[in-house]
Amino acid sequence: MIPIKPVGVPVGPTRTIDAAAGVAAQYLQPGALNLTALPPLALYVHWPWCVRKCPYCDFNSHEAKGEVPEKEYLDALRADLEMALPLIWGRKIHTVFIGGGTPSLMSAAGLDRLLSDLRTLLPLDAEAEITMEANPGTFEAEKFRSYRASGINRLSIGIQSFNGRHLQALGRIHDEGEARRAVEIALANFDNFNLDLMYALPEQTLEEARTDLATAMSYQPPHLSLYHLTMEPNTVFAKYPPNLPDDDTSADMQDLIAEMTGAAGYRHYEVSAYAQPGRQAKHNLNYWQFGDYLGIGAGAHSKLSFPHRVLRQARYKQPKSYMEQVANGTPVQEEHEIGRADMGFEFMLNALRLQDGFAPNLFTERTGLALNVIEKQLNEAEGKGLIYRDHMVIRPTELGHRFLNDLQQIFLG
Ligand code: SF4
Repeated sequence: MIPIKPVGVPVGPTRTIDAAAGVAAQYLQPGALNLTALPPLALYVHWPWCVRKCPYCDFNSHEAKGEVPEKEYLDALRADLEMALPLIWGRKIHTVFIGGGTPSLMSAAGLDRLLSDLRTLLPLDAEAEITMEANPGTFEAEKFRSYRASGINRLSIGIQSFNGRHLQALGRIHDEGEARRAVEIALANFDNFNLDLMYALPEQTLEEARTDLATAMSYQPPHLSLYHLTMEPNTVFAKYPPNLPDDDTSADMQDLIAEMTGAAGYRHYEVSAYAQPGRQAKHNLNYWQFGDYLGIGAGAHSKLSFPHRVLRQARYKQPKSYMEQVANGTPVQEEHEIGRADMGFEFMLNALRLQDGFAPNLFTERTGLALNVIEKQLNEAEGKGLIYRDHMVIRPTELGHRFLNDLQQIFLG
């Protein structure tokens, strides 16, 4: 973290933030944030194309019709980053995540160029976790060896299921054999990787969910992301809903996941994330701890802190318009500061996802506000048995985890 040099702000009690001592919010200037240190900074790079659009997917991904304009897009990413540099001047990048879409559609040479552009333009931490999302169906051993040699040190593989029938129902381009082959190629080249699996799939039985998870765990992945399939608005599944397991069956699947992952030594540290000891996803952890991130590429989002404000940005979503806007020098479509009134909710929305919660002074450090601005809501959540708190930690209780939406809602008002 970079301590912030106070600039143009009166020294004295108005600048003091001490949540533990409960210094009152009334000492702060109305509307002003006072961040005593900038959070760790991560970089997100978006690759917007997939072979085909899956019927449940609401990400910013577009079917690649014909050849993907890889060179033009990589040129745009570099130009986008160059324009964004003044916002993050002098700050080190702790993690990089290349997500999509299907970034593993990128050629080995393209990925090598991207990473060398990032290294040229940014001070990358020597130990930086550099993750790339990859989908089975795009796995060629030689290409993945090359990705590793270029500097990717973690893979996140969108397996979703090892069951051919379910993969078909999800509209995935890979089959069971390709799913297994992808993990084998990852195992041969990467010692750090994540497997994404989904459960409560169309027509899925409890036994099938058990087999899927057992297959995934047989490869001993350092990290597992286990997602409940949800029907997102504006997707094919929202329009034509498939036949999903009932609530009781999906609750049984959740219990099964807790039992199997726990027995195998995985820690359930976030709503959908399970890790072997020391293998948590550093990049994602930074999101949940309300850290900063610069997002480049089509539709990418950024959250960037300054001594007295926190900025959010979103870039143009359509790959073509994004590249055109970069050429015009205006890749950012929307930009706003997080208002003082929204800050507490935004922090809690993220931090309450973590099983271990957060230290009270992290709230002040990341939001620039005294903890007592959410005192009423904390009391309400505590009164309902949804959080536990003492001077060291604020964390959701088991009940709070189960009713996370209700808990988060408390901080909305
Ligand atoms: S592969 Fe992933 S990003 Fe692409 S359409 Fe399917 S779910 Fe969406």
